[in-house]
Amino acid sequence: MSSAFVTEIFSSVQGEGKYIGCRQIFVRLADCNLNCAFCDTDCRRAENCRVETAAGTATFRDVKNPLEPAQVVEVVKNFCDTVPTQAVSFTGGEPLLNWRFVRDVATAIKNFGVKIFLETNGTLPDALEKISDAVDIISMDIKLPSVVGRNLLPLHEKFLQVAYGKDLYVKIVVADSSTREEFLSAVETVAKVDAGILLILQPVTPVNGVGAASAEKILSFQAEALRRLQDVRVIPQTHKFINLL
Ligand code: SF4
Repeated sequence: MSSAFVTEIFSSVQGEGKYIGCRQIFVRLADCNLNCAFCDTDCRRAENCRVETAAGTATFRDVKNPLEPAQVVEVVKNFCDTVPTQAVSFTGGEPLLNWRFVRDVATAIKNFGVKIFLETNGTLPDALEKISDAVDIISMDIKLPSVVGRNLLPLHEKFLQVAYGKDLYVKIVVADSSTREEFLSAVETVAKVDAGILLILQPVTPVNGVGAASAEKILSFQAEALRRLQDVRVIPQTHKFINLL
């Protein structure tokens, strides 16, 4: 059986992307294979996982890490029994680093009436291939070189090919440092797989010295992307507006 270091488990509202506003359970796994300039998440392994005591209360108890899948399944069941929930979101960090654990939890909760939602940085196609059957929705980031310091587009393209056919959308965080050239290369990577894939431009929430892109830049990026892709939306992170987890 797999086990994993989990940072937190809680019930809240999806604050980003296509399913913004939906009630979800978040299972945040430790560890990440990237180091994005705008990262606002502490991905380090901690001694304890904080688990919400009841869905949506924002009060927590500590559970010793690493967790077994059955421990997560029990929490998810309790939350689903009290609040009708759209999906269980595996997030991070990068959840595919713990793909066995995600697979085991996802398989065990399949009959709970919730979708399995994967929030990923889109760089581990081999891991996705192993659990793709267990996943319903994929929110995949494309990371621009100005954010991660290297070109990940070949990996992202491979990932898109594996994810294609799922309920899939792509998210690109745009900052003041994002260049038109790197953005258009990312758009082209999506278009090569299918111009019908939804692309979401997420204006960066300023952090760690990373500044916001201007409104003009966001609008011009959207206009250019719309010449190659059918559906391009601008959606900021919303959970932070109302202090949700
Ligand atoms: S992929 Fe996500 S969790 Fe990992 S460093 Fe980047 S923003 Fe942070």
